[in-house]
Amino acid sequence: MNPHWRKPLLTIAIVAAVVLPIWPIAGKTAALFVACVVLALLLAQHLYNFSLFHSWLLDPRPDSVPNGTGSWEQLFSYLHRLVRRQGQTEARLQEALLRFQKAGAALPEAVILLDADNRIDQCNPKAEKYFGLRAARDRGQQITYLVRQPQFVEYLQGGDFTTPLNLKFQTGTVGEAILSIQIVAYGDSDKLVLGRDITRWERLETTRRDFVANVSHELRTPLTVLNGFLETLTDMEQPDPAMTRRSLDLMMQQCVRMNHLVEDLLTLSRLESTVTPLRDDPVPVCDLVQHLYQDALALSGGKHDIRLRLETRVGLRGSAEELRSALGNLVSNAIRYTPEGGRIELHWEMRDHAPVFSVTDTGIGIEAHHIDRLTERFYRVDRSRSRETGGTGLGLAIVKHVLSRHHARLEIQSEPGRGSTFAAVFPPDRTVIFDAEDIAISGPAAAPRAIEDATTAAS
Ligand code: ADP
Repeated sequence: MNPHWRKPLLTIAIVAAVVLPIWPIAGKTAALFVACVVLALLLAQHLYNFSLFHSWLLDPRPDSVPNGTGSWEQLFSYLHRLVRRQGQTEARLQEALLRFQKAGAALPEAVILLDADNRIDQCNPKAEKYFGLRAARDRGQQITYLVRQPQFVEYLQGGDFTTPLNLKFQTGTVGEAILSIQIVAYGDSDKLVLGRDITRWERLETTRRDFVANVSHELRTPLTVLNGFLETLTDMEQPDPAMTRRSLDLMMQQCVRMNHLVEDLLTLSRLESTVTPLRDDPVPVCDLVQHLYQDALALSGGKHDIRLRLETRVGLRGSAEELRSALGNLVSNAIRYTPEGGRIELHWEMRDHAPVFSVTDTGIGIEAHHIDRLTERFYRVDRSRSRETGGTGLGLAIVKHVLSRHHARLEIQSEPGRGSTFAAVFPPDRTVIFDAEDIAISGPAAAPRAIEDATTAAS
């Protein structure tokens, strides 16, 4: 028998068991009266439980399900179990939704959920940032009222989302950003708008394009010169030996120039390559600076007064080759941009616990507005002077890269007509202490043995 019927049948059986014995003893009327009283009591009990159920339905909280009496007791217990299970399911769903919202908020991309009428359903903080939306305020709004760029509206309404749309956005919080927008249709005409910030990537692309254009431009001049000479020499039936000699010398100069350019480009590309880790060797900077000093004397050919001041014998942790290239560039620039008779000083010292290598010259100097751009690739203040002296326009870009790999910075002070100081300031934790003996072994005869002013004059 269905267990739900058991209790009502039992109640009827009890009523019958009470009423039927009365019939033979007290008569039909008394039996009917008792039956009416019992049924009225049962009806009152049902009405009472029904009113409990009704008032619970008006405020159906899981913890206030009534206990009930009689056959309602079991009914309310089932209801209680059902409500509790539903509460648990709801809590689980709530938790899943919360986790989903947290994941959406953590996404590096802007995400907007649109319904079939392109009304905003949900959006994450990145979407608020890039599209200038407010999730709470804009829910239910048509996205085209809020994101009004004509290209976006056209893209959304066009319905062809096979290729993403790149758009520039001007937002209050991030300034100008370039977003790659992709729309994905899902469900019943719902849409997912994804926005990825590609500003950095676009800038890199522009830099790459400019770089290729610059390199081509740099190579075009020497190639044109070579081409011109070769054509002239080929056209000459009786080559004039003196002129041939001169042409060959000039061609050689152009080849040397191209060679320097290629070498600098290769150095830059090695430095920029993330797969080349920085070496962490102890570099005896006193030795290195003395070699640079000797190179400077040779490069100047006695035309400048070159001095060397070594005030510390500390070395640096890093790459000797890279440091030589960077510091060497500062020295050769000083010679190239200082007119004959000028003075150049190479200085290795400790400044507030930070090792500093500086080159000071009394050369042509640089106007203040150029200074911030000097380390850009191919940036030159005076193009013709740079080219005349064999410059590639890449020297300070190499310096900047090497210094940043060594966590150092370049400080430039300059005054037009008076001269410049280029200082490489290294972090104190790159310092390596060398014994005087070490320096003496690896350095030239004039290596400093103590912390002292080892000023040397070239002339
Ligand atoms: P370049 O090969 O042209 O010298 P760099 O990158 O080494 O290229 O330098 C960039 C520009 O900075 C140079 O073209 C020059 O105008 C300026 N510059 C660099 N060093 C000095 C200096 N010591 N004195 C004056 N100008 C300098």
